[in-house]
Amino acid sequence: IAEAAGPQETAFENALRPRTLDELIGQERVREQLALVLDAAVARDRTPDHVLLSGPPGLGKTTIAMIIAHQLSAPLRLTSGPAIQHAGDLAAILSGVNEGDVLFIDEIHRMSRPAEELLYMAMEDFRVDVVVGKGPGATAIPLQIPPFTVVGATTRAGLLPGPLRDRFGFTAQLDYYEPADLDRIVRRSADLLDLQVSADASAEIGSRSRGTPRIANRLLRRVRDYAEVRADGTVDHAVARAALDLYEVDHLGLDRLDRAVLDALCRNFGGGPVGITTLAVAVAEERETVEELAEPFLVRLGFLARTPRGRVATAAAWRHLGLSAPPGAGS
Ligand code: ATP
Repeated sequence: IAEAAGPQETAFENALRPRTLDELIGQERVREQLALVLDAAVARDRTPDHVLLSGPPGLGKTTIAMIIAHQLSAPLRLTSGPAIQHAGDLAAILSGVNEGDVLFIDEIHRMSRPAEELLYMAMEDFRVDVVVGKGPGATAIPLQIPPFTVVGATTRAGLLPGPLRDRFGFTAQLDYYEPADLDRIVRRSADLLDLQVSADASAEIGSRSRGTPRIANRLLRRVRDYAEVRADGTVDHAVARAALDLYEVDHLGLDRLDRAVLDALCRNFGGGPVGITTLAVAVAEERETVEELAEPFLVRLGFLARTPRGRVATAAAWRHLGLSAPPGAGS
């Protein structure tokens, strides 16, 4: 359930994206602060400060970037850190920027160093020097850029170099959503999909969504399949529970990967400490997948602790797996 999105899912996600700040559910503080930044910019007829959005995947960073452009009635240009490997890649993007554009850079922490340096010059001075040629014959051609707004998204703001982080006038740290918010997100999505979902069913889906709207929508999709094939198309509590059990999403929202990580940690490594790379190999996953998808949620539930010597399972993790914790396991 936590795996990367395929093309169908992307279309599904786009259909469910809130378009305005008012439609956005939860994240009250971020919403209010951002509304102020945008309203002030509109009132002054200026481009707003650059915005940095940080937080785990699926909490709405792309959605918020789209909302920012929408509220400013500005075009949104989308790119991502991994797509900008050379300063020249960024220079090409910047040379096409028009006044007031919103440039969304997803995974901004994965840009190359030279591109990062070019970006913070552009963000600060709205001009960059593009170096053409190599060696003694190289010349710097100044490129003037009209005022524009960068919206950067990162899973961890701490990975950004200080000078780049400082160029963002507004930073929003997105937090996991409360079950009540996820319940509302599921109900909103069900309405948009013309799907009948009972109140206890939407609450059940919300509470198993590990604080993440993307997962809430994903689970709703699986539940809809189940309701259509095995029931009369409507989702009541029994249908929601049966579908979620079938897809191995447990009552706390742990999915197969989360349980595999805990299982390997406890059974293969005696509860740790073990390095994240070793743990990822044990569950046959990429290190980033374990680190960004499973780990933050397990830490949040108090099942896993990060220590300088490696990852450690807590007593609660052992209990969740139905195993008895060895003496000395953290609580
Ligand atoms: P990633 O960084 O992995 O791309 P993201 O943080 O950009 O993730 P989005 O793609 O913006 O996440 O959101 C994922 C899905 O969750 C979208 O379908 C969107 O509709 C929904 N969603 C996110 N935040 C909210 C919200 N606050 N209210 C309603 N729906 C939301």
